[in-house]
Amino acid sequence: MSTYGELITDAVRELSTLEYSDAALEAKELLGLALKLDCRSSEFEQKLWEDTDEDTEQEFFALCERRLKGEPLQYILGEWDFYGSTFKVGRGVLIPRQDTELLIDIAENVYKNSDSLEIIDLCAGSGCIGLTLERRLKNVELTMIEKYTDAIEYLFDNKLSFGSQARVVKGDVLDGSIISQQPQADLIVCNPPYLTAEDMKSLQAEVRAEPVEALYGGEDGLDFYRDIVRLWKGTLKPGGAMLFEIGASQAKEVMELMIQHGFKDVRVRKDAAGNDRAVIGFKRG
Ligand code: GLN
Repeated sequence: MSTYGELITDAVRELSTLEYSDAALEAKELLGLALKLDCRSSEFEQKLWEDTDEDTEQEFFALCERRLKGEPLQYILGEWDFYGSTFKVGRGVLIPRQDTELLIDIAENVYKNSDSLEIIDLCAGSGCIGLTLERRLKNVELTMIEKYTDAIEYLFDNKLSFGSQARVVKGDVLDGSIISQQPQADLIVCNPPYLTAEDMKSLQAEVRAEPVEALYGGEDGLDFYRDIVRLWKGTLKPGGAMLFEIGASQAKEVMELMIQHGFKDVRVRKDAAGNDRAVIGFKRG
């Protein structure tokens, strides 16, 4: 007979063998899932002193096994937090990352005094960017465009749990017939796939479990920036902004690209780790 607390201790030891893991946090999250309790609750803390029951113990071992095989914690939990809200996630959709929260900070800073906004989120995935902006800014008309069926199911789930009024368009952001049907936007925001061919060779196991379509941006990682800037600048109102997440070494190229296409006030911003992570530019007019 052992207690849940002892189960956690054993699991932490095993999960520590994974290259990228916060073993203590992950063990608690997985036990919380097996117990159907929030691992931050006092009920959960209490439970750690109790003896285990067979079924929960088996369930917990099965969850740890999945994690030890490299499945991301976020997919096992089926949800993950982004900017203080919880998003449904799972196979087929990119997991919201903390780095991406920078895009929210930038947009909020630019638009905090605006009374109404037309926003388009390209390659929306889980919807974490668009839905967070719709929730935090005033009178947002939001359109989210996503190509992949697996991802769009999470997008709809998240839209529903946000009580969002957003339009969801299923399709390719590079498809001219979709582009021509979109409203003129104040802000086009996008976290495109931007990893390079070289990056793709050395992905950690957890990232390999994520959809390659959400990661790979062509040989130099810049394919989507080239196409999106060219194809979407006509959908921006004069003075409207295009805001991208970028890879840490892509700032110069993405900024030059936007300048070549006539954008002004093109700027780069760093994430909390000090890496270049976002570029914003404004359409003249
Ligand atoms: N930032 C992601 C990573 O490091 C890449 C996601 C993307 O290409 N937009 O895996």
